[in-house]
Amino acid sequence: MKKWFAVIGDPIAQSKSPEMHNAWYEEANVDATYIPIHVKPEHLQQAVASFKLLGTSGWNVTIPHKQAIIPFLDELDELAEKMGAVNTVVRTAEGKLKGYNTDGPGFVKSLEHVIGTTKREAPVLLIGAGGAARGIAFALQLTGYTNITIANRTVEKAQQIIDELHAGQAVSMQEAEQSLANYEIFIQTTPAGMTTGDFALPFSLEKFPAGAIAADIVYNPLMTPFLQAAEQKGATIVNGLGMFVHQGAIAYQHWLGHYPNTNAMIARLTAQLGGNYVNR
Ligand code: NAP
Repeated sequence: MKKWFAVIGDPIAQSKSPEMHNAWYEEANVDATYIPIHVKPEHLQQAVASFKLLGTSGWNVTIPHKQAIIPFLDELDELAEKMGAVNTVVRTAEGKLKGYNTDGPGFVKSLEHVIGTTKREAPVLLIGAGGAARGIAFALQLTGYTNITIANRTVEKAQQIIDELHAGQAVSMQEAEQSLANYEIFIQTTPAGMTTGDFALPFSLEKFPAGAIAADIVYNPLMTPFLQAAEQKGATIVNGLGMFVHQGAIAYQHWLGHYPNTNAMIARLTAQLGGNYVNR
């Protein structure tokens, strides 16, 4: 029987996930479809019950439901439990609903696709302490990154994540700006530089060290002011599209048992976003 998958959120029309997953099904000859469903917060519980009844094989969860959906699921994997947020639901063979979070692991896959696995002891500066940064921090730690500092406008939020990691340190944006030379890997997770946003950089990159690695999770535009400034200092840069594609690919693997073609998808979405730029 044809399988069906979905993404739920409010709003949802902007999501590129349906296009991505449907293209992967076509490419791999999987008899399935993936649809966007607009679910308002007050209807979340009913939506989950309906999905169960109608026999979906799984679905993605986006803003604002990532935390709110947890009470309606039967179990969580380790990372989703630590994060208190779910972006992927799998219906198990026993009919149970299991929540995963593939955002942070998607980022780490995208990063290591460019820089390999030999930099896990390098000092990392994670810039921002919102939902995305939180997932990335836990996924970095689970992967084996041992030296993580988090800088945030509201330092208490960075400190909260550090406390949960039981490792690393929290600093203010000003402290980070003054000590950039201490780090080798920079991960920009604030909305700085977004096409629709109102601030270009989280702080001045005047003291950015030569030959570092700079990743941004914003992917519209693909080349953010942060990446531009870092590249001018000789950094290896990693844009945010890879995180989006790999979080979807990990969800796909949970549902269908194999990893889809991420390189072709990154090329396709890059072209749509008006870029011919690749990570370098
Ligand atoms: P969030 O939970 O709202 O967190 C936003 C973060 O940015 C917080 O640390 C916040 O600091 C900081 N921030 C906001 N405005 C700022 C300003 N004017 N100056 C300095 N810091 C500021 O958001 P999120 O869910 O983590 O998402 C963050 C960005 O990542 C968004 O642009 C989103 O589109 C992108 N994203 C990309 C992917 C991907 O697949 N590539 C996935 C998820 C998210 P405070 O704590 O001080 O408020």
